[in-house]
Amino acid sequence: MVSGKRVLVTGGAGFIGSHLCERLVSEGHDVLCVDNYFTGSKGNVAHLFNNPHFELMRHDVTFPLYIETDEIYNLACPASPIHYQFDPVQTTKTSVYGAINMLGLSRRVRAKIFQASTSEIYGDPQVHPQQESYWGHCNPIGPRACYDEGKRCAETLFFDYRRQHNVSIKVARIFNTYGPHMHPTDGRVVSNFIVQALRNKPVTIYGDGSQTRSFCYIDDLIEAFLRIMNTDDEFIGPVNIGNPEEFTIQELADTVITLVGSKSKIILKPLPDDDPVQRRPDITIARDILDWEPKIQLLEGLKKTITYFEGRLSKS
Ligand code: NAD
Ligand code: UDP
Repeated sequence: MVSGKRVLVTGGAGFIGSHLCERLVSEGHDVLCVDNYFTGSKGNVAHLFNNPHFELMRHDVTFPLYIETDEIYNLACPASPIHYQFDPVQTTKTSVYGAINMLGLSRRVRAKIFQASTSEIYGDPQVHPQQESYWGHCNPIGPRACYDEGKRCAETLFFDYRRQHNVSIKVARIFNTYGPHMHPTDGRVVSNFIVQALRNKPVTIYGDGSQTRSFCYIDDLIEAFLRIMNTDDEFIGPVNIGNPEEFTIQELADTVITLVGSKSKIILKPLPDDDPVQRRPDITIARDILDWEPKIQLLEGLKKTITYFEGRLSKS
């Protein structure tokens, strides 16, 4: 990678964003991290404060931003269902106005722009595993729609800015990712199970635990982000990024309890509306074009994440 670019990361104080900022700074780039701290925190990037290549700005991406930059990674958006459903109108605004504002900035300063899209684009998929060519099966009026439809509209905007204004875009569809810097009360399944197991509290499976997900460790994801940004102008995506190993939620719960050595029992809770039944990425495009595939499998990634939460919970 050519070093010394000016890079803007929106949502940079969140789980994924903080790892991305760290990696970009370590490669010698000047990183501007923009966040409104809705689900992220300064603590996630505090270790970068003394680095002259790192800058932090409180800003809400639903409002325009006037800066100079060479590249933009647009990550701002709550990703956990409980958080994106807390203020669903704001979630849609963040995805849609955020995309318009960042694409406008990108057009003005001729910056390359990367969109953190999602496997939720596929909704509750009827095709398995999911390929990028699948148009999805989304409920446009359900509780997940603020996120799913917001992200779908953002993809539309990215492709229209490319067609209409020749903006240089890159769109990644991210599947469930986990690792250090997830918030203990984030609400997503990996952090919930680990925190519950470490506290010997009941591990909450929603539904009967037969639904599936495929879990990607954060370091693998960040490597893919950089490879995508460094592709030539012809490659715009969308490209699936995720770990194609698929697990039931029951298997995840059992694995976490065993790894932690926890006394926790599993309890069943109601399945949220529109919860996707199965999800697994087809990563053929990522393999072929980016020469990328995940290296860290679930057991190894869970162990690292458990170690992180042990440290974090011992401080609280
Ligand atoms: P996160 O909630 O930890 O991070 C999101 C960040 O965006 C937070 O720091 C939050 O404060 C910030 N933010 C929210 N609204 C904002 C606004 N209006 N203006 C400025 N900042 C705002 O979530 P994450 O897991 O790090 O997800 C990052 C991105 O990746 C999101 O766009 C998400 O949709 C996408 N994604 C994540 C996953 C995953 O499994 N983690 C999967 C698919 C897609
Ligand atoms: N889930 C669960 N218990 C929890 C949290 C989540 O069983 O404490 C389930 C949830 O219903 C879903 C899966 O785990 O089927 C993944 O949930 P998450 O919120 O992590 O992400 P999603 O893929 O649904 O956006």
